[in-house]
Amino acid sequence: MSARPQDREHTQPGLSNRAPLDPLRARADFPLLSRQVHGKPLIYFDNANTAQKPAVVIEAVDRYYREFNANVSRAVHALGEEATAAYEATRDKLALFINAKSRDEVVLVSGTTQAINLVAHSYALPRLQAGDEILVTTMEHHANIVPWQLVAERRGAKVVAAPITRSGELIVEEFIARLTPRVKFAGVTHVSNVLGTINPVRELAKACRARGIPLLVDGSQAAPHLPIDVQALGCDFYALTGHKLFGPTGTGALWARRELLEAMPPFFGGGEMIKMVSFDKTTFADPPHKFEAGTPNIAGFVGLGAAIDYVNDLGLDRIGAAERDLLAYATDALKSVPGLRLFGEVPHKAAVLSFLIDGVHAHDLATLLDHEGVAVRSGHHCAHPLMQFYGVPATARASLAFYNTRAEVDAFVAAIEKVRKLLA
Ligand code: PLP
Repeated sequence: MSARPQDREHTQPGLSNRAPLDPLRARADFPLLSRQVHGKPLIYFDNANTAQKPAVVIEAVDRYYREFNANVSRAVHALGEEATAAYEATRDKLALFINAKSRDEVVLVSGTTQAINLVAHSYALPRLQAGDEILVTTMEHHANIVPWQLVAERRGAKVVAAPITRSGELIVEEFIARLTPRVKFAGVTHVSNVLGTINPVRELAKACRARGIPLLVDGSQAAPHLPIDVQALGCDFYALTGHKLFGPTGTGALWARRELLEAMPPFFGGGEMIKMVSFDKTTFADPPHKFEAGTPNIAGFVGLGAAIDYVNDLGLDRIGAAERDLLAYATDALKSVPGLRLFGEVPHKAAVLSFLIDGVHAHDLATLLDHEGVAVRSGHHCAHPLMQFYGVPATARASLAFYNTRAEVDAFVAAIEKVRKLLA
Protein backbone atom coordinates (compact mmCIF):
# COMPACT_ATOMS: atom_id res chain seq x y z
CA MET A 1 0.00 0.00 0.00
CA SER A 2 1.29 3.46 -0.78
CA ALA A 3 2.04 5.83 2.10
CA ARG A 4 -1.09 7.04 3.83
CA PRO A 5 -1.38 10.70 4.76
CA GLN A 6 -0.57 10.05 8.41
CA ASP A 7 2.73 8.43 7.43
CA ARG A 8 4.07 11.46 5.64
CA GLU A 9 6.48 13.67 7.44
CA HIS A 10 5.37 17.21 7.76
CA THR A 11 7.00 20.34 8.96
CA GLN A 12 5.65 22.71 11.57
CA PRO A 13 4.11 25.85 10.14
CA GLY A 14 6.62 28.52 10.78
CA LEU A 15 9.57 30.31 9.47
CA SER A 16 11.67 28.75 6.80
CA ASN A 17 14.72 30.20 5.12
CA ARG A 18 13.82 28.81 1.75
CA ALA A 19 13.64 30.67 -1.52
CA PRO A 20 10.44 32.65 -2.17
CA LEU A 21 7.49 30.60 -3.33
CA ASP A 22 7.17 30.35 -7.08
CA PRO A 23 3.47 30.65 -7.99
CA LEU A 24 4.02 29.02 -11.37
CA ARG A 25 5.49 25.93 -9.78
CA ALA A 26 2.86 25.87 -7.03
CA ARG A 27 -0.05 26.12 -9.45
CA ALA A 28 1.16 23.03 -11.28
CA ASP A 29 0.11 21.12 -8.12
CA PHE A 30 -3.55 22.09 -8.75
CA PRO A 31 -5.08 20.13 -11.65
CA LEU A 32 -8.13 22.35 -11.94
CA LEU A 33 -6.10 25.50 -12.52
CA SER A 34 -5.13 24.37 -15.99
CA ARG A 35 -8.70 24.22 -17.29
CA GLN A 36 -10.37 26.74 -19.55
CA VAL A 37 -13.65 28.58 -18.99
CA HIS A 38 -15.60 29.97 -21.95
CA GLY A 39 -12.58 29.19 -24.11
CA LYS A 40 -10.24 31.30 -21.95
CA PRO A 41 -7.64 30.15 -19.42
CA LEU A 42 -9.26 30.09 -15.99
CA ILE A 43 -8.23 32.88 -13.64
CA TYR A 44 -9.49 31.70 -10.27
CA PHE A 45 -9.86 34.70 -7.96
CA ASP A 46 -12.55 33.27 -5.68
CA ASN A 47 -10.29 31.69 -3.11
CA ALA A 48 -12.00 33.25 -0.09
CA ASN A 49 -15.15 31.41 -1.17
CA THR A 50 -13.43 28.08 -1.55
CA ALA A 51 -9.86 27.26 -2.48
CA GLN A 52 -8.75 24.81 -5.16
CA LYS A 53 -7.32 21.46 -4.13
CA PRO A 54 -3.80 20.20 -4.86
CA ALA A 55 -3.45 16.77 -6.42
CA VAL A 56 -2.12 15.36 -3.14
CA VAL A 57 -5.48 16.12 -1.49
CA ILE A 58 -7.50 14.63 -4.33
CA GLU A 59 -5.25 11.56 -4.30
CA ALA A 60 -5.54 11.14 -0.52
CA VAL A 61 -9.34 11.08 -0.74
CA ASP A 62 -9.16 8.69 -3.69
CA ARG A 63 -6.72 6.44 -1.82
CA TYR A 64 -8.96 6.30 1.23
CA TYR A 65 -11.89 5.03 -0.85
CA ARG A 66 -9.74 2.64 -2.88
CA GLU A 67 -7.57 1.25 -0.11
CA PHE A 68 -8.93 1.68 3.41
CA ASN A 69 -12.56 2.77 3.31
CA ALA A 70 -14.12 1.77 6.66
CA ASN A 71 -15.86 3.49 9.52
CA VAL A 72 -13.79 5.03 12.30
CA SER A 73 -13.58 3.91 15.92
CA ARG A 74 -15.97 1.00 15.42
CA ALA A 75 -14.20 -1.89 13.77
CA VAL A 76 -11.19 -3.83 15.00
CA HIS A 77 -10.40 -5.06 11.51
CA ALA A 78 -7.42 -3.72 9.59
CA LEU A 79 -9.41 -1.33 7.41
CA GLY A 80 -11.17 0.14 10.43
CA GLU A 81 -7.87 0.67 12.18
CA GLU A 82 -6.30 2.28 9.12
CA ALA A 83 -9.27 4.59 8.61
CA THR A 84 -9.28 5.56 12.29
CA ALA A 85 -5.54 6.17 12.25
CA ALA A 86 -5.81 8.43 9.20
CA TYR A 87 -8.79 10.34 10.61
CA GLU A 88 -7.13 10.81 14.00
CA ALA A 89 -3.85 11.79 12.34
CA THR A 90 -5.63 14.82 10.92
CA ARG A 91 -6.60 15.83 14.45
CA ASP A 92 -2.89 15.68 15.36
CA LYS A 93 -1.97 17.73 12.32
CA LEU A 94 -4.62 20.32 13.11
CA ALA A 95 -3.45 20.53 16.73
CA LEU A 96 0.11 21.22 15.54
CA PHE A 97 -1.10 23.58 12.83
CA ILE A 98 -2.79 25.90 15.34
CA ASN A 99 -0.44 25.10 18.23
CA ALA A 100 -3.13 23.65 20.49
CA LYS A 101 -1.87 22.39 23.84
CA SER A 102 -3.43 19.02 23.20
CA ARG A 103 -5.06 17.08 20.38
CA ASP A 104 -8.05 16.62 22.70
CA GLU A 105 -8.82 20.31 22.31
CA VAL A 106 -9.56 19.85 18.61
CA VAL A 107 -13.12 18.91 17.67
CA LEU A 108 -13.57 17.80 14.06
CA VAL A 109 -16.63 19.46 12.57
CA SER A 110 -18.08 20.12 9.14
CA GLY A 111 -16.75 23.68 9.02
CA THR A 112 -16.77 27.02 10.78
CA THR A 113 -20.55 27.25 10.61
CA GLN A 114 -20.98 24.05 12.60
CA ALA A 115 -18.20 25.04 14.99
CA ILE A 116 -19.84 28.35 15.87
CA ASN A 117 -23.30 26.82 16.17
CA LEU A 118 -21.84 24.22 18.51
CA VAL A 119 -20.33 26.89 20.78
CA ALA A 120 -23.46 29.05 20.63
CA HIS A 121 -25.76 26.20 21.64
CA SER A 122 -23.53 24.23 23.94
CA TYR A 123 -21.52 26.97 25.66
CA ALA A 124 -23.44 30.23 25.35
CA LEU A 125 -27.09 29.18 25.51
CA PRO A 126 -26.99 27.63 29.00
CA ARG A 127 -25.16 30.69 30.33
CA LEU A 128 -27.29 33.46 28.79
CA GLN A 129 -29.98 35.39 30.62
CA ALA A 130 -32.41 38.12 29.62
CA GLY A 131 -30.62 41.41 29.06
CA ASP A 132 -27.24 39.81 28.33
CA GLU A 133 -25.25 40.71 25.24
CA ILE A 134 -23.01 38.92 22.79
CA LEU A 135 -20.49 41.27 21.22
CA VAL A 136 -19.34 40.84 17.63
CA THR A 137 -18.14 43.32 15.00
CA THR A 138 -19.71 44.98 11.98
CA MET A 139 -17.49 42.98 9.64
CA GLU A 140 -18.62 39.49 10.69
CA HIS A 141 -19.76 36.77 8.29
CA HIS A 142 -23.33 35.62 8.96
CA ALA A 143 -21.83 32.45 10.46
CA ASN A 144 -20.56 34.59 13.33
CA ILE A 145 -23.84 36.51 13.76
CA VAL A 146 -26.83 34.26 13.17
CA PRO A 147 -25.92 31.40 15.57
CA TRP A 148 -25.58 34.02 18.35
CA GLN A 149 -28.93 35.53 17.41
CA LEU A 150 -30.57 32.10 17.55
CA VAL A 151 -29.47 31.52 21.12
CA ALA A 152 -29.87 35.14 22.23
CA GLU A 153 -33.51 35.18 21.11
CA ARG A 154 -34.25 32.14 23.23
CA ARG A 155 -33.01 33.93 26.34
CA GLY A 156 -34.07 37.53 25.74
CA ALA A 157 -30.44 38.46 25.17
CA LYS A 158 -29.12 40.36 22.14
CA VAL A 159 -26.24 40.53 19.71
CA VAL A 160 -24.44 43.88 19.52
CA ALA A 161 -21.69 44.96 17.15
CA ALA A 162 -18.53 46.99 17.59
CA PRO A 163 -18.03 49.54 14.80
CA ILE A 164 -15.38 49.80 12.11
CA THR A 165 -13.89 52.73 10.22
CA ARG A 166 -14.78 53.51 6.60
CA SER A 167 -11.42 52.07 5.57
CA GLY A 168 -12.44 48.78 7.16
CA GLU A 169 -10.56 48.72 10.45
CA LEU A 170 -12.10 47.55 13.70
CA ILE A 171 -12.18 50.43 16.19
CA VAL A 172 -10.49 48.55 19.00
CA GLU A 173 -11.27 51.06 21.73
CA GLU A 174 -14.96 50.90 20.78
CA PHE A 175 -14.86 47.10 20.94
CA ILE A 176 -13.26 47.28 24.38
CA ALA A 177 -15.68 49.99 25.55
CA ARG A 178 -18.55 47.64 24.68
CA LEU A 179 -17.18 44.85 26.88
CA THR A 180 -19.55 45.79 29.69
CA PRO A 181 -20.74 43.41 32.44
CA ARG A 182 -23.79 42.67 30.22
CA VAL A 183 -21.54 40.99 27.66
CA LYS A 184 -21.34 37.25 28.28
CA PHE A 185 -19.59 36.25 25.09
CA ALA A 186 -17.62 37.84 22.25
CA GLY A 187 -16.90 36.75 18.70
CA VAL A 188 -14.59 38.27 16.13
CA THR A 189 -13.33 37.28 12.73
CA HIS A 190 -9.57 36.93 12.50
CA VAL A 191 -9.59 38.04 8.85
CA SER A 192 -12.58 39.67 7.14
CA ASN A 193 -13.85 37.73 4.12
CA VAL A 194 -14.95 40.99 2.45
CA LEU A 195 -12.31 43.53 3.46
CA GLY A 196 -9.29 41.33 4.10
CA THR A 197 -8.73 43.19 7.37
CA ILE A 198 -6.61 41.24 9.86
CA ASN A 199 -7.99 41.98 13.30
CA PRO A 200 -5.73 42.42 16.35
CA VAL A 201 -6.96 39.26 18.01
CA ARG A 202 -4.33 39.19 20.77
CA GLU A 203 -5.32 42.64 21.96
CA LEU A 204 -9.02 41.81 21.84
CA ALA A 205 -8.47 38.50 23.62
CA LYS A 206 -6.49 40.24 26.36
CA ALA A 207 -9.31 42.73 26.92
CA CYS A 208 -11.92 39.95 26.98
CA ARG A 209 -9.85 37.84 29.33
CA ALA A 210 -9.37 40.71 31.77
CA ARG A 211 -13.16 40.89 32.04
CA GLY A 212 -13.79 37.13 32.13
CA ILE A 213 -15.56 37.18 28.74
CA PRO A 214 -14.88 34.17 26.51
CA LEU A 215 -13.81 35.07 22.97
CA LEU A 216 -14.42 33.00 19.86
CA VAL A 217 -12.29 33.75 16.82
CA ASP A 218 -13.59 32.90 13.37
CA GLY A 219 -10.44 31.77 11.62
CA SER A 220 -12.02 30.76 8.30
CA GLN A 221 -10.08 33.30 6.28
CA ALA A 222 -6.97 33.33 8.45
CA ALA A 223 -5.96 29.68 8.50
CA PRO A 224 -5.08 29.53 4.76
CA HIS A 225 -2.88 32.62 4.96
CA LEU A 226 -1.40 33.21 8.43
CA PRO A 227 0.39 31.00 10.95
CA ILE A 228 -2.10 30.39 13.76
CA ASP A 229 -1.04 29.98 17.37
CA VAL A 230 -4.13 29.72 19.54
CA GLN A 231 -2.10 29.79 22.73
CA ALA A 232 -0.32 33.00 21.76
CA LEU A 233 -3.58 34.58 20.55
CA GLY A 234 -5.09 34.01 23.99
CA CYS A 235 -8.61 33.39 22.73
CA ASP A 236 -10.94 30.71 24.10
CA PHE A 237 -12.42 29.22 20.92
CA TYR A 238 -11.01 29.15 17.38
CA ALA A 239 -12.99 27.92 14.38
CA LEU A 240 -11.67 27.06 10.95
CA THR A 241 -12.98 25.50 7.79
CA GLY A 242 -11.09 22.94 5.68
CA HIS A 243 -12.27 23.79 2.18
CA LYS A 244 -10.68 27.25 2.30
CA LEU A 245 -7.49 25.59 3.50
CA PHE A 246 -7.13 23.64 0.22
CA GLY A 247 -8.89 20.65 1.79
CA PRO A 248 -12.22 18.98 1.02
CA THR A 249 -15.61 20.56 1.68
CA GLY A 250 -17.47 19.47 4.80
CA THR A 251 -14.39 19.55 7.02
CA GLY A 252 -13.30 21.94 9.72
CA ALA A 253 -12.22 22.25 13.31
CA LEU A 254 -13.24 23.84 16.53
CA TRP A 255 -10.45 24.42 19.00
CA ALA A 256 -11.35 25.29 22.58
CA ARG A 257 -9.55 25.25 25.88
CA ARG A 258 -9.95 21.84 27.40
CA GLU A 259 -11.71 23.09 30.53
CA LEU A 260 -14.33 24.81 28.36
CA LEU A 261 -14.95 21.67 26.30
CA GLU A 262 -15.29 19.68 29.50
CA ALA A 263 -17.87 22.11 30.84
CA MET A 264 -19.97 21.99 27.64
CA PRO A 265 -22.78 19.49 27.10
CA PRO A 266 -22.87 17.65 23.76
CA PHE A 267 -24.63 19.43 20.90
CA PHE A 268 -25.54 16.33 18.86
CA GLY A 269 -26.34 12.97 20.38
CA GLY A 270 -25.85 9.53 18.83
CA GLY A 271 -23.19 6.96 18.20
CA GLU A 272 -19.52 7.59 18.89
CA MET A 273 -20.04 10.27 21.54
CA ILE A 274 -20.99 8.11 24.51
CA LYS A 275 -19.33 6.01 27.21
CA MET A 276 -22.43 4.06 28.18
CA VAL A 277 -26.09 4.26 27.17
CA SER A 278 -29.07 2.96 29.11
CA PHE A 279 -32.67 4.15 29.21
CA ASP A 280 -32.04 5.55 32.69
CA LYS A 281 -28.82 7.39 32.08
CA THR A 282 -26.28 7.99 29.35
CA THR A 283 -22.72 9.01 30.03
CA PHE A 284 -20.68 10.82 27.44
CA ALA A 285 -17.24 10.30 25.98
CA ASP A 286 -14.50 12.74 26.92
CA PRO A 287 -13.86 15.74 24.67
CA PRO A 288 -13.39 15.98 21.77
CA HIS A 289 -15.35 12.79 21.00
CA LYS A 290 -18.44 13.84 22.91
CA PHE A 291 -18.97 16.49 20.21
CA GLU A 292 -18.51 14.10 17.28
CA ALA A 293 -21.72 12.09 17.10
CA GLY A 294 -22.27 9.85 14.10
CA THR A 295 -20.10 8.93 11.16
CA PRO A 296 -17.91 11.88 10.21
CA ASN A 297 -16.64 12.96 6.82
CA ILE A 298 -13.77 10.48 7.02
CA ALA A 299 -12.63 10.89 3.42
CA GLY A 300 -12.75 14.65 3.85
CA PHE A 301 -10.59 14.59 6.94
CA VAL A 302 -8.09 12.28 5.29
CA GLY A 303 -7.92 14.89 2.52
CA LEU A 304 -7.63 17.72 5.03
CA GLY A 305 -4.64 15.98 6.57
CA ALA A 306 -2.99 15.97 3.15
CA ALA A 307 -3.89 19.64 2.69
CA ILE A 308 -2.23 20.58 5.98
CA ASP A 309 0.88 18.64 5.00
CA TYR A 310 0.88 20.47 1.69
CA VAL A 311 0.54 23.91 3.28
CA ASN A 312 3.22 23.08 5.85
CA ASP A 313 5.55 21.88 3.12
CA LEU A 314 5.13 25.15 1.23
CA GLY A 315 5.44 27.16 4.46
CA LEU A 316 2.88 29.70 5.60
CA ASP A 317 5.61 32.34 5.76
CA ARG A 318 6.32 31.85 2.03
CA ILE A 319 2.61 31.70 1.25
CA GLY A 320 2.06 34.95 3.16
CA ALA A 321 4.97 36.69 1.44
CA ALA A 322 3.79 35.65 -2.04
CA GLU A 323 0.24 36.79 -1.30
CA ARG A 324 1.34 40.13 0.14
CA ASP A 325 3.40 40.79 -2.95
CA LEU A 326 0.49 39.93 -5.24
CA LEU A 327 -1.94 41.95 -3.12
CA ALA A 328 0.24 45.08 -3.43
CA TYR A 329 0.52 44.55 -7.18
CA ALA A 330 -3.21 43.96 -7.63
CA THR A 331 -4.17 46.90 -5.40
CA ASP A 332 -2.04 49.29 -7.47
CA ALA A 333 -3.42 47.83 -10.68
CA LEU A 334 -7.05 48.16 -9.56
CA LYS A 335 -6.48 51.73 -8.39
CA SER A 336 -5.52 52.63 -11.93
CA VAL A 337 -9.01 51.73 -13.17
CA PRO A 338 -11.15 54.88 -13.49
CA GLY A 339 -14.31 54.87 -11.34
CA LEU A 340 -13.23 51.84 -9.30
CA ARG A 341 -13.95 51.98 -5.57
CA LEU A 342 -12.08 49.63 -3.21
CA PHE A 343 -13.56 48.46 0.09
CA GLY A 344 -11.09 47.66 2.81
CA GLU A 345 -7.90 49.65 2.64
CA VAL A 346 -6.07 48.91 5.84
CA PRO A 347 -2.31 48.34 5.88
CA HIS A 348 -2.57 44.97 7.61
CA LYS A 349 -4.76 42.85 5.37
CA ALA A 350 -5.05 39.56 3.54
CA ALA A 351 -5.27 39.32 -0.26
CA VAL A 352 -8.97 40.12 -0.60
CA LEU A 353 -10.07 42.97 -2.89
CA SER A 354 -13.70 44.03 -2.77
CA PHE A 355 -14.66 46.66 -5.27
CA LEU A 356 -17.34 48.37 -7.32
CA ILE A 357 -17.18 50.33 -10.53
CA ASP A 358 -19.30 53.45 -10.94
CA GLY A 359 -22.47 52.66 -12.85
CA VAL A 360 -21.87 48.89 -13.00
CA HIS A 361 -23.74 46.34 -10.89
CA ALA A 362 -21.47 43.87 -9.13
CA HIS A 363 -23.35 40.88 -10.60
CA ASP A 364 -23.07 42.22 -14.16
CA LEU A 365 -19.39 42.79 -13.59
CA ALA A 366 -18.83 39.24 -12.26
CA THR A 367 -20.90 37.71 -15.07
CA LEU A 368 -18.96 39.50 -17.76
CA LEU A 369 -15.64 38.76 -16.07
CA ASP A 370 -16.63 35.10 -16.07
CA HIS A 371 -16.93 35.28 -19.85
CA GLU A 372 -13.33 36.45 -19.87
CA GLY A 373 -12.35 33.40 -17.81
CA VAL A 374 -12.10 35.31 -14.53
CA ALA A 375 -13.90 33.84 -11.51
CA VAL A 376 -14.70 36.48 -8.89
CA ARG A 377 -17.56 36.49 -6.42
CA SER A 378 -20.26 39.13 -6.40
CA GLY A 379 -22.94 39.66 -3.80
CA HIS A 380 -23.21 40.43 -0.12
CA HIS A 381 -20.61 37.79 0.80
CA CYS A 382 -22.78 36.62 3.73
CA ALA A 383 -22.08 39.96 5.39
CA HIS A 384 -25.33 41.95 5.18
CA PRO A 385 -24.48 44.24 8.11
CA LEU A 386 -21.21 45.20 6.45
CA MET A 387 -22.99 45.97 3.16
CA GLN A 388 -25.49 48.07 5.14
CA PHE A 389 -22.58 49.91 6.75
CA TYR A 390 -21.19 50.83 3.33
CA GLY A 391 -24.65 51.48 1.92
CA VAL A 392 -24.24 49.07 -1.00
CA PRO A 393 -26.21 45.90 -1.81
CA ALA A 394 -23.24 44.00 -3.12
CA THR A 395 -19.61 44.21 -4.14
CA ALA A 396 -17.41 42.24 -6.50
CA ARG A 397 -14.60 40.44 -4.73
CA ALA A 398 -11.32 39.11 -6.02
CA SER A 399 -9.61 36.92 -3.45
CA LEU A 400 -6.12 35.72 -4.26
CA ALA A 401 -4.07 32.70 -3.31
CA PHE A 402 -0.37 31.86 -3.53
CA TYR A 403 -0.97 30.08 -6.85
CA ASN A 404 -2.20 33.26 -8.54
CA THR A 405 0.21 35.29 -10.65
CA ARG A 406 0.90 38.85 -11.72
CA ALA A 407 0.06 37.84 -15.29
CA GLU A 408 -3.39 36.79 -14.05
CA VAL A 409 -3.81 40.14 -12.30
CA ASP A 410 -2.88 41.91 -15.57
CA ALA A 411 -5.45 39.84 -17.49
CA PHE A 412 -8.05 40.51 -14.78
CA VAL A 413 -7.52 44.27 -14.92
CA ALA A 414 -7.64 44.20 -18.72
CA ALA A 415 -10.93 42.29 -18.49
CA ILE A 416 -12.31 44.87 -16.03
CA GLU A 417 -11.36 47.66 -18.43
CA LYS A 418 -13.17 45.84 -21.24
CA VAL A 419 -16.30 45.38 -19.12
CA ARG A 420 -16.18 48.94 -17.84
CA LYS A 421 -16.06 50.36 -21.36
CA LEU A 422 -18.99 48.15 -22.27
CA LEU A 423 -21.18 48.99 -19.28
CA ALA A 424 -20.15 52.20 -17.55
N1 PLP B 1 -16.66 32.88 8.43
C1 PLP B 1 -16.04 33.50 7.42
C2 PLP B 1 -15.23 34.72 7.68
C3 PLP B 1 -16.15 32.99 6.12
O1 PLP B 1 -15.55 33.60 5.10
C4 PLP B 1 -16.93 31.82 5.90
C5 PLP B 1 -17.13 31.29 4.54
O2 PLP B 1 -17.22 32.02 3.58
C6 PLP B 1 -17.53 31.20 6.99
C7 PLP B 1 -17.38 31.76 8.24
C8 PLP B 1 -18.35 29.98 6.85
O3 PLP B 1 -17.55 28.89 6.52
P1 PLP B 1 -18.23 27.48 6.18
O4 PLP B 1 -19.35 27.77 5.21
O5 PLP B 1 -17.14 26.70 5.59
O6 PLP B 1 -18.73 26.92 7.46
